[in-house]
Amino acid sequence: MSAALYAKVRRVVPPMEWAVFEPDIEAILRLKRDRNAVILAHNYMTPEIFHCVADIVGDSLHLAREAQRVQADVIVMAGVHFMAETAKMLNPQASVLIPDLEAGCSLASSITAADVRLLRLRYPGVPVVTYVNTSAAVKAESDICCTSGNARRVIESLGVPEVIMLPDRYLAANVARETGVKIISWAGSCEVHERFTPAQIRTLRAENPGVVVLAHPECKPEVVAESDFAGSTAAMAEYVTDRQPGRVVLITECSMADNIAVLHPDIDFVRPCNLCPHMKRITLPKLRATLETLTHEVTIDPAVADRARLAVERMLAV
Ligand code: SF4
Repeated sequence: MSAALYAKVRRVVPPMEWAVFEPDIEAILRLKRDRNAVILAHNYMTPEIFHCVADIVGDSLHLAREAQRVQADVIVMAGVHFMAETAKMLNPQASVLIPDLEAGCSLASSITAADVRLLRLRYPGVPVVTYVNTSAAVKAESDICCTSGNARRVIESLGVPEVIMLPDRYLAANVARETGVKIISWAGSCEVHERFTPAQIRTLRAENPGVVVLAHPECKPEVVAESDFAGSTAAMAEYVTDRQPGRVVLITECSMADNIAVLHPDIDFVRPCNLCPHMKRITLPKLRATLETLTHEVTIDPAVADRARLAVERMLAV
């Protein structure tokens, strides 16, 4: 079992690191069976989590859809807190655990439910479209949620001339360039994606001739403008699979490139590294401890959960 797993990740995990990971991986696989647990892992998890212990992997939209269908007693979210909340909302019967309660998100912490209520007073009648990277309390104040993969479709599905789009200013600016709907935005940002600059992209191109640049729409519009393609992590993975570029750089959290590189040994991945400190709080030892102790359980006030679920379900129906 271990040898087969290592064969999957050997391109990105050196043997010395594997020796450290192996006991935790074996324990986690056993504990998952004992606890009837399923691990959902975001694309930004490190390869030993993503490829060796996760049952379902993907971007936040995919994890939300799959969380709804999971039939296990326990869901462990290898991701950040808002993702665990979304899983709990969509699968309230399951016990949803997160290995580290401090695994937050700069976007989710940029806005509160009270902020949304104030915006509604300021812009009466304008629908509120909320990125899934928010707390359940913020989702509960919203009309509909969106992800980076479906934001334009969600906004245009409303059939209105103007929306409030929260909380990512760059995602809002990037979507505004693609749609005729007027967008009122908030001043939140992803601390990982906002670090990329147009000058970095030009340097990457100069140093890596022929490289195809794929950027996440949480990057600044100037960065997206310097790129060949912009899309969610799922859209980036699809681009690489379908088009098989000879050399590629993913302008996003750096574990993403490691995880896709495992699947495409013939593609040269250029890897500038911006790590998300929140995602990186999730480690194999913490996953093991979560399954051993069944902590930390994520709960949501039922009244908040009911309203937040509506916003997420409206998105899933689009
Ligand atoms: S990468 Fe950015 S958006 Fe994603 S969890 Fe980290 S801070 Fe939040």
